[in-house]
Amino acid sequence: MIVIVLGFMALILVFGLGAAAGLWLRAARVSAGADAHRDAFVQSPTGMLLVDPDTLRIVDANPALVRSTGVPLEELRAGTLGAIFGAADGDGPDLLVAQLRDSPARLLVEATQRCRSGRQLLVEISGHPLQSDGRVLFALSTRDITLRRRVQAQQLERQQHLSHLAHHDQLTALPNRLYLAAHLPKAIEEARREGSALAVLFLDLDRFKHINDSRGHDTGDRLLQEVARRIRAAVRDEDMVVRMGGDEFIVVLRRVLTVDEVGETAARLAQTLNAAVVIDGRPLVATASIGVSLYPRDGQTMGELLRQSDTAMYQAKDRGRNTFQQFTPAMDRKLKERVAVENSLRRALAERQLHLHYQPIVDIRTRRVVALEALLRWRAHSAFIRPSRFIAIAEETGLIVPIGEFVARQALADLRRWRDSGASVVPLSLNVSAVQLQRTDFPAMLAGLLARYDVAASMVQIELNESAMFERHDRRGDPSQHAIERLRELGVRIVIDDFGTGYSSLSYLKRWRVDVLKIDRGFIRDLSVDTGDRAIVEAIIAMARHLNIEVVAEGVERQRDLRKLRDLGCELAQGILLARPVPAEQCLQFLSGAPLVIDSPESPADLLEGSGAA
Ligand code: C2E
Ligand code: MG
Ligand code: MG
Repeated sequence: MIVIVLGFMALILVFGLGAAAGLWLRAARVSAGADAHRDAFVQSPTGMLLVDPDTLRIVDANPALVRSTGVPLEELRAGTLGAIFGAADGDGPDLLVAQLRDSPARLLVEATQRCRSGRQLLVEISGHPLQSDGRVLFALSTRDITLRRRVQAQQLERQQHLSHLAHHDQLTALPNRLYLAAHLPKAIEEARREGSALAVLFLDLDRFKHINDSRGHDTGDRLLQEVARRIRAAVRDEDMVVRMGGDEFIVVLRRVLTVDEVGETAARLAQTLNAAVVIDGRPLVATASIGVSLYPRDGQTMGELLRQSDTAMYQAKDRGRNTFQQFTPAMDRKLKERVAVENSLRRALAERQLHLHYQPIVDIRTRRVVALEALLRWRAHSAFIRPSRFIAIAEETGLIVPIGEFVARQALADLRRWRDSGASVVPLSLNVSAVQLQRTDFPAMLAGLLARYDVAASMVQIELNESAMFERHDRRGDPSQHAIERLRELGVRIVIDDFGTGYSSLSYLKRWRVDVLKIDRGFIRDLSVDTGDRAIVEAIIAMARHLNIEVVAEGVERQRDLRKLRDLGCELAQGILLARPVPAEQCLQFLSGAPLVIDSPESPADLLEGSGAA
């Protein structure tokens, strides 16, 4: 019984004590909570304050705020929010308070904080409403974000700097291709919205490569800088001037009203570039060819407009440079035709549609064949396409390289076959483009083929077109010059083709130690009627004789011209009068060693006499 009573009392005691302890603990926790809040307020490393929302008075502030502002607590308490904080970018603590008043959720604003020292910090203020002694106060806490913002600003600046670098050309400081790609579509879009027109001018300096090669890259760079400056100065601020790379520039004219206006700008650009630039005391003129395309007339997209201004620019180059051309649909057709020819030429090469025909070069007196010129033929759908339609395109696209290799291989293979069949073979004359000499190791390729077919180098001569070679011959370090020397060392003879159509600079005849000159058929055609042509041919023959160079008259079609040539002392001729170009299978007729039979109705006895007299 005692045990039960004791036990009961113990239980009461335990429960009673427990309950009492619980009550006490809860009370302690409440006051500890308030203390903890107070502690948190006092010890917080960030500035905190309590504000009366009605008067914006600062009711209390913590030591961190006192420290960071440098303003004593009493003074803070005597002031309002506006005494310390101001608005950063329009948002201020007043706004924060106003917003808190409207919707008492947690909010965040940026503000400036004035310090006693005069310094101004950038702070982030967050706030929330708080019940205290039956009234509502706003508790605000501040965070110094001055440093973070400064770092962010630096990062932004660095990014902008990098982006500027990426979008601008180092040499001229003009915007570059990337910039154009980012901004031209926007300009087009703007024009579309406004219903205005926009012009794209593609500007390419004439013979800049020549200046670069002959006067050095440093001079070239300085010239480009000056050109960039002049172009920029010749157009309005709102117009875009971009350096695409090398000597290519794009000018985008916005809000174009008339086509004439574009013409005037192009003329102004040409004029400013026509004035000489003096570099290191020496004047330089960098003229430009300009192609123009217009939005919306010529195209709707950046790609189209650039392509068309580029096409027009090439047309300007074709027209003799230092001029400007507007894009026309006809140019586009021409371009498309070119692309079509290029594609089918590629296929022709792969599908063996290319063939060689051979035309004899004949000794006028003896009528014997002294050489065979290989002429390229492209057989497409049972018709032959003449080289004049595709050689230039092959050169531009580089296709001339594999084509040229095919020609050399096929010609040597044919020669080898004729020789094996017992024919008395003659040297082959191969037409070679300047592009082949410059872009590939043509002498090495030819030497390899000569060895492979076991043909002596003296059985090959190379025909170089005069105008094509002259365009490049005066460049120092020109690879074709070197190639010609190596061909000569091999023992290959050098022929200048179409002589008289280019610049006819006589110095290179000596420099290249030319073996043969082929007088262009333009001089031969009217030889018997045109005394001027006759005088020229006479002079060429006399000069060649002095230089110990052989002369071939090309394109001889009439007996009387052949007669005249013989009278003028020309020894070799080629032309349909003597023999047309024929496929390899029909060449054995030229390789018998016997004189050619000319079955011309006009076949004159005096020529035969001439041959007999030789
Ligand atoms: P080319 O080397 O001056 O060749 C002579 C051209 O005159 C040939 O034209 C020939 O067929 C043509 N011809 C020959 N006799 C007469 C004639 O009596 N009267 C007239 N009016 N023409 C005659 P083709 O075959 O059309 O070749 C044109 C040009 O294409 C060649 O002029 C040559 O520069 C180039 N070419 C031809 N084959 C090749 C080649 O394999 N490689 C390279 N790079 N160019 C070639
Ligand atoms: Mg030729
Ligand atoms: Mg020729």
